Amino acid sequence: MTFQAPKGTFDWMPPRSEWALAVREGLSAPLRRAGYGYIETPTFEDTALFSRGVGESTDIVSKEMYTFESRGGQSLTLRPEGTAGVMRAVLEHGLQGGPLPVKLWYSGSYFRYERAQAGRYRHFSQVGAEAVGAEDPALDAELIVLAADGYAALGLRGVRLLINSLGCKECRPAYRAALQEFLRGLDLDEPTRRRVEINPLRVLDDKRPEVRAQLTGAPLVTDHLCGACKAYHEEVRGLLSAAGVAYADDPRLVRGLDYYTRTTFEFLHDGLGAQSAVGGGGRYDGLSEMIGGPALPSVGWALGVDRTVLAMEAEGLLGERPRHLDVFAVPLGEEARRRIFPLVSELRRAGLAVDMAFGGRGVKGAMKAADRSGARYAMILGDRDIEAGAVQVKDLTTADQTAVPLAEVVDVLKGKVS
Ligand code: ATP
Ligand code: MG
Repeated sequence: MTFQAPKGTFDWMPPRSEWALAVREGLSAPLRRAGYGYIETPTFEDTALFSRGVGESTDIVSKEMYTFESRGGQSLTLRPEGTAGVMRAVLEHGLQGGPLPVKLWYSGSYFRYERAQAGRYRHFSQVGAEAVGAEDPALDAELIVLAADGYAALGLRGVRLLINSLGCKECRPAYRAALQEFLRGLDLDEPTRRRVEINPLRVLDDKRPEVRAQLTGAPLVTDHLCGACKAYHEEVRGLLSAAGVAYADDPRLVRGLDYYTRTTFEFLHDGLGAQSAVGGGGRYDGLSEMIGGPALPSVGWALGVDRTVLAMEAEGLLGERPRHLDVFAVPLGEEARRRIFPLVSELRRAGLAVDMAFGGRGVKGAMKAADRSGARYAMILGDRDIEAGAVQVKDLTTADQTAVPLAEVVDVLKGKVS
């Protein structure tokens, strides 16, 4: 019997897996330079954390969670997103009592029971950032700029940024009511009519053409913002422009999670096929209170690692990543293996990238492996070399070969490579 990865999941295999690492590194580097500390939270949490923190009316909670009962009878859920767990950890460790904002970044696996397709998986990974405990348009702008810088550092040119404001608890209720009144007059199916009553903003996010066509005249949140929200949003926009980050206003941009307020944004890429979002986020001033904490205005984002690699592929950026190997060791025989093994270890400790031929192949097979390895030098040891107390060092680009005394080969190779 053989096995396959479960539906909606896949393996990152070399050499392509190098790009997953490069994306995690590229998207997190700007955060680390901006004072964000690294946080790692559990892959599963109390189910109630997500049902309260993400919201019962969202697709995530109502349809997409991997929920199970532990042996101890507790309901646990594989995390579908990162923000709720990070906020839980901030509150549990009392970080809200220290200097604010608390700035954190993370990277890991997330799980959603979705209809699997290209770019939409049941297990995917994100790099995320959260800035907890401050209401300051510069913080919203900082996070957006850092994400844009991350994409740019990866070489991506086709990432577009959409921004919007969803208002606050002062102005959102009136907008919500106006939207509801509009939506009640449309021809919608039963589940969508229910959604109109529970979470009308999310209807704006409906992707079906027959629904979209009816939304043309829907009232826009931007026409209903209170003075404070308007001023805040203007400030964010001004800071983005000042930092040289291009954006487009999208008054229909809402996000799937219930806890967003004010600033929301999404990064899109048009080379992904069925979907276009590579990342998104926004301000979530209400989340802390929803999960039992004090008022803690916060802002954050999550960028999809898998889709970012797909976007890079669409832009032709996934060239071959050269395997960085300095030396490939070729022992010919058992005694040679015994002698060359400590040299390999010593070279690695000296900081060189070194691999060796395994499995006792003959000269021909081993030299083929050396060529294929992409190494700059081969270090070949046969019985005759051992007798002579030397090892052959072959430059694999020029094919020049010289005998080097065994006692000196580590220093010689260190000198050549540095
Ligand atoms: P979508 O509208 O595509 O369903 P979303 O709004 O559910 O996205 P978020 O919860 O904002 O996505 O997650 C942030 C990012 O994580 C997305 O922009 C995307 O790049 C990535 N992402 C989300 N769900 C998946 C998934 N099922 N497979 C791969 N990547 C995903
Ligand atoms: Mg989704």
